[in-house]
Amino acid sequence: MLIGAHALVFSGTFGEQGLRRAVEGTKRAGFDLIEIPLMDVDAFDSELAARMLRDNDLSVTASLGLTESTDLTSEDPAVVAAGERILEQCLDHVAAMGGEVLCGVIYSAMRKYASPTTARGVENSQGAIARLADKAAQRGIRLSLEVVNRYESNVFNTGRGALAYLDGVDRDDVSVHLDTYHMNIEESDLFQPVHDVAAAGKLGYVHIGESHRGYLGTGSVDFGTFFRALHDVRYDGPIVFESFSSAVVSAELSNTLGIWRNLWQDSDDLAAHANRFIRDGLHAVGTIDLH
Ligand code: MN
Repeated sequence: MLIGAHALVFSGTFGEQGLRRAVEGTKRAGFDLIEIPLMDVDAFDSELAARMLRDNDLSVTASLGLTESTDLTSEDPAVVAAGERILEQCLDHVAAMGGEVLCGVIYSAMRKYASPTTARGVENSQGAIARLADKAAQRGIRLSLEVVNRYESNVFNTGRGALAYLDGVDRDDVSVHLDTYHMNIEESDLFQPVHDVAAAGKLGYVHIGESHRGYLGTGSVDFGTFFRALHDVRYDGPIVFESFSSAVVSAELSNTLGIWRNLWQDSDDLAAHANRFIRDGLHAVGTIDLH
C-alpha cells in the first residue's frame, strides 16, 4: 500500500522549481508517492519529473479535472474529441514518469453544472472513457474516476452512482476513486460506500481529505470509520492526502475548488502530520484482526 501526497500541498505551479519543491517536500514528509495534477499538459516536462522522482525514490500518479472546452459529457463531438486528446497527452506524461494511474474528474468537466446530464452526454463520456482505457492499458496505466460532490460534477456524486456509470463503460480495468472530503458531503456514511465499491471489484484509488480540506483530524470527517472500511475490504491501492489552502495557490485549481481561505501556512508541517495521521490510523485498524 502506497501512502502519498497531492503535489498542491507544496506548490501551485509545476515548472522546474515548483516540481522540485513538491517532490522533495513529499519525500521529506515521509510519503511513498506523489500525485501530480496535470493542469497544463503542454508545458509539463515529464522527463524532468521522472528524473526528480528517481532521485527521490518516489512513486507517482497523475490527476486531472477537465474543463468546459474538454468536457467528455458535451453533446458537441469536437469538445469530446478535445477532451480525449488532452487525456491521451496525460497518459503519455504518466507513462514517461513511470506511473500506473491516471485519476480525478476525467469523465466530465470539474465545475458546478447549471443543469443535469443528458443521456447523450453520458454516453459520449462512457464511450470516450472506454477508448481511453484501451490506450491506457497499452501504456500499463489504469484509469480511476473520482467521485466528487454535486458542485464539482453532475455525472455521479456517490460510489454507487459511479458503479452505475461504469456499467456503461464495459472495461474491467476502469476503477472508482473515492475521496473522504466528497463522501462526507454526499454519502450516507464513510463505511458502506467502501464496501459497495470494493464488492464490485472497483475500488482503485483513495483521497484522504478533511471536511474543510485542512489539517486531518480538525474537521468533521469520520476517519476512524473510513480506515476500518479500508481494512475490512483489504484495500491495498494508493491512499493520497489532499489539502488546499490559499497559502499555496494554483490559480486554476484553487478557483475551481473554491479555495478562498488560509487553513494552514506550513506545507512541511501539514504534510508530515498527514503522513503520520494516515499511517497511524491504518496501523491501528490493522490490529482489529486480533480482537
Ligand atoms: Mn480528491
